[in-house]
Amino acid sequence: MQRLALKLRGEGRRIAFVPTMGALHEGHMSLVDEAKRRGDFIVVSVFVNPTQFGPTEDFAKYPRTLDADAALCRERGAHCVFAPPSDGMYAADFSTFIEEGLCSKGLCGDHRPGHFRGVTTVVAMLFNIVQPHAAIFGAKDAQQCAVIRKMVSDLFMPVDIVVAPIVREKDGLALSSRNRYLPADLRAKAPSLYKALLAAKAAVDSGERDAALVKSAFERSLAQEPALRLQYFTLTDARTMEPLSKIRPGETLAAVAVNLGETRLIDNITL
Ligand code: AMP
Repeated sequence: MQRLALKLRGEGRRIAFVPTMGALHEGHMSLVDEAKRRGDFIVVSVFVNPTQFGPTEDFAKYPRTLDADAALCRERGAHCVFAPPSDGMYAADFSTFIEEGLCSKGLCGDHRPGHFRGVTTVVAMLFNIVQPHAAIFGAKDAQQCAVIRKMVSDLFMPVDIVVAPIVREKDGLALSSRNRYLPADLRAKAPSLYKALLAAKAAVDSGERDAALVKSAFERSLAQEPALRLQYFTLTDARTMEPLSKIRPGETLAAVAVNLGETRLIDNITL
């Protein structure tokens, strides 16, 4: 992959890159569409990265659908799917990690220790392998986007980071590879998560600026669906992920994680 990438760069091609863990859906495909606007050689990586999963998380059962993923990428116009074998990225004596120390605090950083260290490390490795001019990430993982932007800026990585909007089902549920874990009865309850985010947004749109009161509006709405067990709801600066007590419209991220049955769902909205 790296040899191909360096050859393409030498020929003046522009590489646009979409890193994924596979089980691809329309959310991922929207990133491929954005990549087509940002480059003329589109690479999608499919790699379920072991270092970003905690010991009790779903690494072993994470859906792996490489043939279908490759077909989707081909149909959508990607030029290359880079899918290293599970033991192909980390040598047995691998010992170098990248750790971002500001944006990765709070939110998922508090609930998934070591997660962002795994993400930044694998993304840096993938950038070195794929040599992209631009890399496309989804706003669905808003904290991840902030962490990657900070890593790229801190380490002077020559990659343009592009963030594409969240793609949702018609009922509002954000598309996610993990949605396929949800049995039908729980799937029917999942849209209440986005509804609660919209309740927070409605409060801000009607003039509320006190973060505690916006949080109450969110919690009142979420409480209508007790199957959604709240892990966190935060109101933070959208770039730094620092908690805010006063809402700054346009710059405030409302981010949430819940458990629904055995499945952890995240979502967010900019207020
Ligand atoms: P994943 O395969 O879950 O690691 O996701 C790979 C990339 O796709 C990440 O940049 C995600 O933010 C992005 N992504 C996942 N779901 C969505 C969605 N519903 N809308 C937009 N981007 C998404």
